[in-house]
Amino acid sequence: MKKQRVIFCDFDGTITENDNIVAIIRHFNPPGWEAIVNAIVSQNKPIKQGVGELFRLLPTSRKREVVDYAISNARIREGFADMLAYCKDNDIQFYVTSGGIDFFVFPLLAPFGIPEDHIYCNGSDFSGESIEITWPHPCDGECQNDCGMCKTTIIRRFPAERYERILIGDSVTDFEGAKLADVVFARSHLTLKCAELGLPFHEYATFHDVIHQLKLQEAKS
Ligand SMILES: [Mg+2]
Ligand SMILES: [Zn+2]
Repeated sequence: MKKQRVIFCDFDGTITENDNIVAIIRHFNPPGWEAIVNAIVSQNKPIKQGVGELFRLLPTSRKREVVDYAISNARIREGFADMLAYCKDNDIQFYVTSGGIDFFVFPLLAPFGIPEDHIYCNGSDFSGESIEITWPHPCDGECQNDCGMCKTTIIRRFPAERYERILIGDSVTDFEGAKLADVVFARSHLTLKCAELGLPFHEYATFHDVIHQLKLQEAKS
């Protein structure tokens, strides 16, 4: 029996052209952010801890500015709407698995009609002095990486026997998922990591590249 295809698509640097968390922090430039970002990227600090620390540098009194900046600054990668249409037409399940934050992920995806239960990301709490990130999708017992939003936990809910698991990503938050996936689409840092790990991947620049490759695979199967 043919397996059900399911896509797990990263948000920051994948659906959007740049990393929104880094863009926000760089724009507001609170003292100490660079060391935290470097520690996350070099995998010397768990993502959950690092992202939590970064947002704690921002006061909730600037909520409106932070939210407005995040939403107005982001650019959606070319071909994303076509990608969703392709998935719908070809019975491919599409999930957003994002280490980003609800206050920019949901507004930026709103025009695309993705069901909310197909969007996984972190939450935010503006009720205190500084922005507190919340973690509704933590690692299961199989993952020791303290991801925050755990992509592999979500991927494991789709067993390999029944699903062809396709990952689209760009960076450090996608490494572990790439090891589990049957097919990997990578750009930027993720291409280097896949090469280093000896994992096969397809490089993409736009979602049209991804669609093109999916069509080739469909034709072969
Ligand atoms: Mg990313
Ligand atoms: Zn995890």
